[in-house]
Amino acid sequence: MNDGASARPDSETVRGRGNSPLAQQRFRSFDGGVSAAGHLQRPDRHRFWTPGSGWEPSIARGSGLSYAAASFRERGLSIEHRAFNRILGFSSTERIVEVEAGIELSALHDFLSARGAYLPVQPGHGRITVGGCVAADVHGKNQARDGTFINQVVRLTLFHPEQGLIEVDPDKEPTLFRLTCGGYGLTGHILRVRLQASPIPADAIELHAIPIDNVASG
Ligand SMILES: Cc1cc2nc3c(=O)[nH]c(=O)nc-3n(C[C@H](O)[C@H](O)[C@H](O)COP(=O)(O)OP(=O)(O)OC[C@H]3O[C@@H](n4cnc5c(N)ncnc54)[C@H](O)[C@@H]3O)c2cc1C
Repeated sequence: MNDGASARPDSETVRGRGNSPLAQQRFRSFDGGVSAAGHLQRPDRHRFWTPGSGWEPSIARGSGLSYAAASFRERGLSIEHRAFNRILGFSSTERIVEVEAGIELSALHDFLSARGAYLPVQPGHGRITVGGCVAADVHGKNQARDGTFINQVVRLTLFHPEQGLIEVDPDKEPTLFRLTCGGYGLTGHILRVRLQASPIPADAIELHAIPIDNVASG
């Protein structure tokens, strides 16, 4: 099983965007059901996002924790965002947090919970990135009540190879916003996301234990 972080590229190195190294990689979906050989780039500077690298098709990649081949393809270029994982700002009055898209949910949760806030919609693995959450418009276990991840997205910043940087405000760019949330990276690279957090309702949960003799009697 490949969790996306432990995968080791082999030794051949070629050059890609911004002359940064690309590693040959065999990618696998989280459940191992699909795999492909492509190239992986792990940039740590935005200057590597230069248009026209000649390595298209390329796709953004978060932690690679999808059950499908969402962030790789045969002979494609996957550009991983995990080095871009900073918290850029937090408003304690509005509980709006701005992050780089490569931040993992567990790190964001630690930051928010220390400030009495949390994201009500979260999928079931702490290493999933915010970019992956937006791109797949993920659900938590409470979508009937709280909807999907898009409901928490206030605004985002996108990089498109031909259009450059685009501030995507749902009021000003409603179509692009909706195409990006759930668009599986096809509208470009999500660089930054502003999220609306909610107050943690309580610092404890009430637990009622109801003993039963066995599963059948329960
Ligand atoms: C144990 C486990 C539990 C899960 N539980 C749930 C759940 O409860 N609910 C649910 O909905 N899903 C769940 N998932 C699925 C997971 O939430 C999604 O597959 C998610 O998209 C994975 O994010 P990632 O960071 O691993 O991104 P990747 O798998 O690398 O990529 C996923 C998609 O997002 C795109 N993408 C990633 N980063 C960016 C970016 N910066 N800019 C643009 N596009 C980007 C990629 O191109 C790709 O299309 C679970 C997965 C696992 C392994």
